[in-house]
Amino acid sequence: MAYNYPELCLVIGETRITAEQRQTRPVIDPATGQVIAELPIATEADIRAAAEAAALAYQDWRRTSSHQRQAILRAAAAKLRERREELAWTITTEQGKPLAEARGEIDASAETLEWFADEARRAYGRIIPSRFPGHRQLVEIEPVGPVAAFAPWNFPLINGLRKVAPALAAGCTVVLKPAEETPGATMIAVECLREAGLPAGVLNVLYGEPAQISDALIKAPEIRKVSFTGSVSVGQSLAALAGRHGKRATMELGGHAPVIILDDVDVDQVATLAAAGKFRNAGQVCNGATRFYVQRGIYDRFLAGFAERAGRVVVGDGRVDGTQMGPLANDRRVTAMEGFVADARKRGGGVIGGERIGNVGNFFQPTILHDLDPAAEAYHVEPFGPLALVAPFDSEEEALARANDSNVGLSSFVFTESARRQRRMIDGIQAGLVGVNTFQVAFPETPFGGIKESGFGHEGGAEGLEPYLAKKFVHIAG
Ligand code: NAD
Repeated sequence: MAYNYPELCLVIGETRITAEQRQTRPVIDPATGQVIAELPIATEADIRAAAEAAALAYQDWRRTSSHQRQAILRAAAAKLRERREELAWTITTEQGKPLAEARGEIDASAETLEWFADEARRAYGRIIPSRFPGHRQLVEIEPVGPVAAFAPWNFPLINGLRKVAPALAAGCTVVLKPAEETPGATMIAVECLREAGLPAGVLNVLYGEPAQISDALIKAPEIRKVSFTGSVSVGQSLAALAGRHGKRATMELGGHAPVIILDDVDVDQVATLAAAGKFRNAGQVCNGATRFYVQRGIYDRFLAGFAERAGRVVVGDGRVDGTQMGPLANDRRVTAMEGFVADARKRGGGVIGGERIGNVGNFFQPTILHDLDPAAEAYHVEPFGPLALVAPFDSEEEALARANDSNVGLSSFVFTESARRQRRMIDGIQAGLVGVNTFQVAFPETPFGGIKESGFGHEGGAEGLEPYLAKKFVHIAG
């Protein structure tokens, strides 16, 4: 069933600014290339007003009890679930992923709201014994203040909520800039939160020129904390700006995940998992598997099995039953895939798939580049698309050296039945996340974050609330 795409607005305190009131940019359906809506572009004055609205609302929101905040976030999660089908259709229409995956994103989003709603009630202070008789030493926690949050387009709903949920749960207010390419799901989430009782101004939403908005918000005196998910290069420049202005920052940047497959595994089973893991969300996942290093004894069988399964992935419009992989979210990704494939061909590597599909929408074949020169572009730039690299290795040391030969360290994966080999791999791999015999490393209740240039700070888990809390030490003399 088709739904109406939500009306797109800037949300600033009580005010909703529609496309008729501002200059606009189009939102495009990546499966058809058609314009589905016009998005209003924030002016400098709108950006200032949003920071001021967040500061004003903070005065009351910071004083609400964690029980009250929990009730609102839990009610909003229930409303997301009530609107699950409409939300799934909206996500698929603006981003492309199959409906089943969009439903999974909504379920995880609702759970994220619930997790942080409950976690806020477990955010404890502490009492530290004093060296002076009769004195009291308390560590109290407070919200850190209004937050500027920037979320990308690959998970239109949950990318934003992984910032908004802990911020609101902690008692912070937020100015959120979702991706301009996928604004609809956030509009519905804002409605759910308001209907659940969230006061005006606690969550403000801006769209526009990303650099203009991030520059103005990070410099705004009202904003105390910055959270960004996106590419390494943009993240590093926002982190530098945040540093210059003394703002705390959480950065969830790119990955280029290695997968080490040792020769004791069930090869068919791992090939099946690899195809399902790699082509989810058309490979546009920061923690997705990319560089597959396979021990030589099973290399040919794995490559043949993986290629056969990649060739069977049903690519099409995500709204159509049976589609397993939708279009890429924007045409920049198709251009990027074509570039990686051309570079691989030039270097004499093997290419399986590697072609754009049709000339309507951003469809691209599930692609495997194998036996490729390690200097190839795809080994050094995050592909962020349906493209896997497969190469053989001989020793565990060689596998680890190649896996760690990257400027980023977000997720990593190891496949082996041997507990000793698992331990050696877990100890040797340089990454913030390790999946052992699984590609699942992200849950609402577990910490998610990278090392090296993948960023700093965590989203999810008990750790996900921390960035939004400040500590106040109180010494009470007797
Ligand atoms: P990009 O770097 O221009 O944009 C990535 C995201 O950051 C977008 O949502 C964009 O709106 C936002 N952005 C860009 N400049 C910004 C700024 N100055 N201030 C605030 N936000 C800004 O690139 P892209 O073409 O959209 O994506 C390319 C690469 O970005 C991908 O190859 C991937 O490496 C990375 N990316 C990572 C994630 C992730 O989940 N970590 C998500 C999307 C994109």
